[in-house]
Amino acid sequence: MSNMFTARSTAVFLDRDGTLNHDTGYVTTPEQLVLFPGVPEAIARLNQLGAMVLLVTNQSAIGRGMMTIEGLEAIHERLAEMIRPYGAWIDGIFFCPHHPQDGCECRKPKAGLINQAVNRFALDVSQCYLVGDKRSDLEAAQTASVPGVLVMTSTYSADVVRARDAGQVQLDYIADSFVHAVDWIEQQMMSRGNRIRQYR
Ligand SMILES: [Zn+2]
Repeated sequence: MSNMFTARSTAVFLDRDGTLNHDTGYVTTPEQLVLFPGVPEAIARLNQLGAMVLLVTNQSAIGRGMMTIEGLEAIHERLAEMIRPYGAWIDGIFFCPHHPQDGCECRKPKAGLINQAVNRFALDVSQCYLVGDKRSDLEAAQTASVPGVLVMTSTYSADVVRARDAGQVQLDYIADSFVHAVDWIEQQMMSRGNRIRQYR
């Protein structure tokens, strides 16, 4: 499908656990990856909009010795298989394998994962979005100057609203599900496209 709104400089960053799938603490096997309803179809809509769909995910289970890189790859192969029948795909996966005490630059709330993607794909952060359920996701987005969408899909989400109300973190939109987050992003991208056309 052609797309007149967005160049390839646009990306939607997606947190994984608690945003796309149930957060069971640590997802360390493909069988533990259980997607929320409507997630494959919603990712397909982002694909059709022409945005890159990029996972940004903390996977400290690797640094904790609970999972190998190969194990993580098996989970992501499973994710690809689960969404493929819906015409959906993930364009790139950026993960932090480190233990929280490693002091790395990539573990969210730091912006390292987002910045890696921005540099690799020459993304325009003002044209990107991030969707996540945790304060660390939205803080990483804010640091990287990427508009952030909170999904109220995990036990962590309510804390983020409180932090927003206390002026501690910035949110551009709050959605009750990933599907509704994509609804909003789609509207934003469409209206931006309309504006561009008006001024041409
Ligand atoms: Zn890291």
